[in-house]
Amino acid sequence: MGTIDFENCTLENVVAFVTEEVDSVIVVDGKNDRYKTIIRKGVFVDFIEERGLYKDLIAKLWYHFNNSSTGVVEDYQVFIPTSGKFIGKYSKRINIECHGVPHVVQMTIYPTAQEDIYIFVLNELDGSQYVDETLTNNKVKSIQNTYLFSMYVDIVQDTTNSISVTEISDEVMNQQLKYSEWRMMIVNMIWPDDQALFLQRTSPEYLKENLAPGKTSSYDCLMMNLEGKYIWVKLIFSRAETNNDEDFRFVFMVQDIHDNTVELMSTLKKYEELASKDTLTSVFNHGRIETEMRNAIESTKKSNEKVSLMMIDIDFFKSVNDAFGHSVGDATLVHFVETISDCIQDHNAVLGRWGGEEFVVVLYDADEIKSLSLAERIRTQVASEVFESIGHITCSIGLTHVKADDELDYAFERMDKAVYEAKSSGRNCVKVM
Ligand code: GH3
Ligand code: MG
Ligand code: MG
Repeated sequence: MGTIDFENCTLENVVAFVTEEVDSVIVVDGKNDRYKTIIRKGVFVDFIEERGLYKDLIAKLWYHFNNSSTGVVEDYQVFIPTSGKFIGKYSKRINIECHGVPHVVQMTIYPTAQEDIYIFVLNELDGSQYVDETLTNNKVKSIQNTYLFSMYVDIVQDTTNSISVTEISDEVMNQQLKYSEWRMMIVNMIWPDDQALFLQRTSPEYLKENLAPGKTSSYDCLMMNLEGKYIWVKLIFSRAETNNDEDFRFVFMVQDIHDNTVELMSTLKKYEELASKDTLTSVFNHGRIETEMRNAIESTKKSNEKVSLMMIDIDFFKSVNDAFGHSVGDATLVHFVETISDCIQDHNAVLGRWGGEEFVVVLYDADEIKSLSLAERIRTQVASEVFESIGHITCSIGLTHVKADDELDYAFERMDKAVYEAKSSGRNCVKVM
């Protein structure tokens, strides 16, 4: 470390001292989008080029990923405050990552007399300089990780300011990008299906109408991240507290909720599956197969799809229970379902348990002849199958074809009547209604 003589200190001494102590000094020409390094030491030898584009420098300094050296995708440049002017000295502590190693850097930006020319001074803080702030740094890190960026928006003035994501601070970066323009830039990073909703929710009219002072609203959507991948984010709008009805200032934040959302979705899917399944046989339960029938009938109205419904009822099943006990009866039901599943597996068909020993098949893409032959195949297969403990059983099948103007109640009644017909004609047969 250079020494400085208190009494005889001159500007040259100080300059020499600073030159030795400071890790990096960069001259930036914002207007011509370029920078030049005057001093480059330590981590900055690898982190910054000798010369480069101003926007690349800013991208490096403002955004860093954990365990990633990937650059910022082009579309994301809208969040990087390169278009604004630094008015007055600007100082921030930032975390950067170089070759996978995190570094804490103090960054100070000095405007010069010449517009668009700035001096960036960067210093890496060593462990002792920030060891007391580990907690703060951890907090900063987690905020960085979850909040991708935040903007301060005034929809009356039509202005935006990007809030620095590198520290917990309400200090804003100087940026003169119109809110209306910024909105049209961001919409391109939203998943195409979600773009209309984004435009609706971010429109000045919507925000004015729906957000009282101090109120916050949010919604989730897919958005491209810094690396160009679509991730789940929460878009949060919070209106500033104000007594002035004409004051419409908002904080707009984007929070990374990807991992939690993916987990939540798989849990929801699991629950949905659980809620749809019959516990004994694992095929669709009553509620789910009823929905399947209802949806199938609706879809025939829209697309002229050929749909058939069949009800399969085991013959004299009560006597199986009476003779062999309930648990043998249960095992028989499971075997019975496996037999039907094998028969329908090459068809576009869905099987569900209507209740007890009654099952429903919804068969798609099959005309009258095909569906009758499938029903016959199920019947004969069941009759020839050997069921453990009990030997042979038979079933009666009621079949109906969905009509163009059908309703579930009508179709179900026909199917039910067909089963009744089959039972009264001696069982082990298929009837069509
Ligand atoms: P049918 O030929 O007229 O259909 O005669 P069935 O005996 O099959 O008809 P019924 O409706 O009289 O009896 C159905 C029996 O199915 C009654 C009940 O003992 C049995 N059953 C219903 N659900 C279950 C179940 O979950 N497990 C077992 N083991 N038996 C069941
Ligand atoms: Mg029955
Ligand atoms: Mg029965």
